[in-house]
Order: sequence, then structure tokens, then C-alpha cells
Amino acid sequence: MQRLRELSRRVEAVYGEMADIYAGYQQARGLHCRSGCGACCLHPEIEATVLDMLPLAMHLFDQGTAESTLAQLEAAPAGNSCPMYQALSFDGKQGQCRIYQWRPTLCRTFGAAGYRDKHGKTALSTCKTIKEDRSSAYADTLIAMESDPPPMLSHARQQVDQLDYELSRSSLPIAEAMQLALRKVLFQACYSDVDSDQQIA
Ligand code: SF4
Repeated sequence: MQRLRELSRRVEAVYGEMADIYAGYQQARGLHCRSGCGACCLHPEIEATVLDMLPLAMHLFDQGTAESTLAQLEAAPAGNSCPMYQALSFDGKQGQCRIYQWRPTLCRTFGAAGYRDKHGKTALSTCKTIKEDRSSAYADTLIAMESDPPPMLSHARQQVDQLDYELSRSSLPIAEAMQLALRKVLFQACYSDVDSDQQIA
């Protein structure tokens, strides 16, 4: 359990650095998300790894709610939408993340980040809403792409994955990654209990 706990702390430390890098770039370029917008969270292809979800699983374990959360996730109907999203409007596009502090890597790059296009050049990944709301900042950002390149989506992924390649092997729907992370923490806790019982005996 101690190893998982240490790993979780290291993932959280990388998440802290990401806030400076990705949110910092978006602030500096004026490419902020619209207040209360949850459109990214409705996207059916938001994925996470087990490692991404480890800090949340560890937090729920420490709160004593890991088993009940796992049971809820297992009982929820299968679907692609994120179970951590709380819609606050009729069309679902306004809403909030219920686990914002613990959200996985990809969610931390929502807004504006870089990727390599098919010609190997750095391109900007941002959404329609930001392009419309911040059209002038978006145009300035495209002009400044060479002198002020965006932080890359792949860099965020690598920073987390390198902490444990086994737990980052697969990108899965968030609900599935979350269930696996909870099972891993609960199994490890159980195993640690058996170990300590044996040491006492
Ligand atoms: S984890 Fe949070 S930020 Fe990420 S998709 Fe789900 S609700 Fe949105």
C-alpha cells in the first residue's frame, strides 16, 4: 500500500506542475474556457489511465468511500459519458466536475494545448466555443505559435505515464479506469492487512 500511496503523491505532484503549465498558457494567451462550460466533459471519447485515477481512488479510500463508490460505478448503466460530470443545464452543456481536484491528465489540458499535425508541425487544439468567444486572442495565438508554442498534449501524457508504465498501459473510458483504480487500491489495502496480521502473529 505504501508504494501505491507514494505513486499517488507523485502523480499529484505532476498534476500540480500541469496547472502551472497548461492553465498558465491559457491565461497568458487569453484563451479561457467559458464560465460553467462543460462541453468537453460531454465528449464520448474522454479517456484516462488507471494511474490517472489513482489519486482520486486513494482519496476515496482515505475517506472510507472507496467501496461504495466502486459499487455505484459498477451498478451504473454502461455509457460513454463521464460519471463525474454534474450537468446543471437542460442540454447538459453547463455543468461542473465533481472531482475537479482529482481530474485525470486529459481533463487538465482542456481549453488550449498543442499537438503535432499530419505534417509534424505544432498545431493548436482548442474548442469551437473558445474560438468564438476569444476570436482575437485565438488569432493572436495562431500568429505567435512559433515564438510562443503551446504546451503539448503528449507532454502531459508522458509526464504522468513515466511514473508507472504498467498502470498507464491502456487508455480507457474514465468510469472503467476509475473502477480499476479503486479495485487496485482496495485489493492492496486488503493484502497489506493480511501482511500486518501475519507479522503480528
Ligand atoms: S473527470 Fe471531471 S473534467 Fe474530466 S471529463 Fe469528467 S467531469 Fe469533466
